[in-house]
Amino acid sequence: MAEERLDAIVVGAGPAGVTAARELAASGLSPVVLERGQFPGSKNAWGGILYREPTEEMIPGFEEDAPLERPIIEQRYMLLTSDAAMTASYKSMRLAQEPYNAYTAFRGEFDQWYAARAEAEGVEIYPEFTVTDLLWEDGAVVGVTTGDEEGELLANVVVLADGANSLLGQKAGLHREWQPHEQALVAKETLRLDAKVIEERFNLPEGKGAALEIFGESTWGMLGYGFIYTNKDSLSIGTGALLSDLMTSGRNVNDMLDRFKAHPAIQPLIEGAELEEYAAHLIPEGGFKRLPTLYGDGVMLVGDAAGLVNPLNREGVNLAMMSGKFAAQAIVHAAEAGDYSVTGLSRYRELLDDSFVMKDLHKIRNMTEFAHERPWLFGEYPELMSEAARRYLTVSGKPKKEIQNEILGLFGGMPKKRMISDAFGAVRAFKG
Ligand SMILES: Cc1cc2nc3c(=O)[nH]c(=O)nc-3n(C[C@H](O)[C@H](O)[C@H](O)COP(=O)(O)OP(=O)(O)OC[C@H]3O[C@@H](n4cnc5c(N)ncnc54)[C@H](O)[C@@H]3O)c2cc1C
Repeated sequence: MAEERLDAIVVGAGPAGVTAARELAASGLSPVVLERGQFPGSKNAWGGILYREPTEEMIPGFEEDAPLERPIIEQRYMLLTSDAAMTASYKSMRLAQEPYNAYTAFRGEFDQWYAARAEAEGVEIYPEFTVTDLLWEDGAVVGVTTGDEEGELLANVVVLADGANSLLGQKAGLHREWQPHEQALVAKETLRLDAKVIEERFNLPEGKGAALEIFGESTWGMLGYGFIYTNKDSLSIGTGALLSDLMTSGRNVNDMLDRFKAHPAIQPLIEGAELEEYAAHLIPEGGFKRLPTLYGDGVMLVGDAAGLVNPLNREGVNLAMMSGKFAAQAIVHAAEAGDYSVTGLSRYRELLDDSFVMKDLHKIRNMTEFAHERPWLFGEYPELMSEAARRYLTVSGKPKKEIQNEILGLFGGMPKKRMISDAFGAVRAFKG
């Protein structure tokens, strides 16, 4: 075993790992990042929305040279039934001006750029190193093994930034095996389409972008959502649902995506686009109530590995970066005290608790349960709303009063107790 003890080993060169390493390096420590992919970002998939303000906080001036696609100036929400679509949209000229709120970006490009920036700041990143196990001494994690002969590395602390389904987090005893209702599986495609065609179809000024979140039929009525995000000359399109629902229904995300793409409200948006890339990826969605233990003696979890994702607000990367930063600050504190035990690293949880990360996760802690217990929210209700809209808009010889009564009758057929419970439940879940 190598005798040299590194300040820290970070496993995974995603946003959480690279941020942790940058912050450590900025504090005078020498972390080493091990990444299993050919290059940072090569194994990473996401929808594509990067929020400006939290990114600016981590990487001042990033807009000047980061590989970004389009600033997002419009957010659309769609509710699909089998043959209809209801849309709410927010498009703002304030969002169309700098400073922008959010951009689309590709992870393969962004992660590489971010890692290069970290390297320029003194961080050592080693791609094509898969950490296979942890090394232990007296009940504390003291390093990692990469599986090959010379592959043992010792460190004062190991930061696990290995993403959703962190196998190393399980080996560290920080969390049990993820349950199917705690992970969503998403299939995503990048579809090449001419920039001008994108701007015409999505009614966008040149160079500007839109984000569409699409519920209901986009997931076969399961809890989850479909999305379309506009890039410079491509679209990111995807859909996914909780693994437990996919397993129970016997459906898979590839079929779900094909079905979503063929929907009459979606197909015209992607007509003629060419498939460039396909990926399927997990998102940890257990939320606040199912967070793992975030650190142990000599080991910490950050980002997706720690389950820090806000699916309601489509935030993952900013939480990953924030947790990486806090983990590094806790390590610096531990280094000063020379104590990398649970006690020495406890500042990590304090910093997270004091930040928007835990406050937001706590606020939405009941959302998934609320929606999951009510499968009719994404099936029966959209159908009813669509039928009501169709009848309201259809001009016939029928007097309007009669149509109105018919519409009320549609909703009257719903169990009243259930509707009241849904309304109160929604208010409670949103209020947090
Ligand atoms: C389909 C989809 C859409 C999403 N959309 C958005 C969005 O629009 N906006 C947003 O903010 N978030 C989004 N997210 C969430 C976001 O992608 C994650 O929250 C974020 O990537 C977490 O960063 P991370 O660094 O913790 O993990 P990752 O980015 O997953 O990085 C983990 C890294 O660890 C490496 N690794 C894993 N195991 C090992 C090992 N044993 N040894 C060495 N290296 C290892 C991996 O190769 C990877 O590079 C989306 C996620 C998905 C799946």
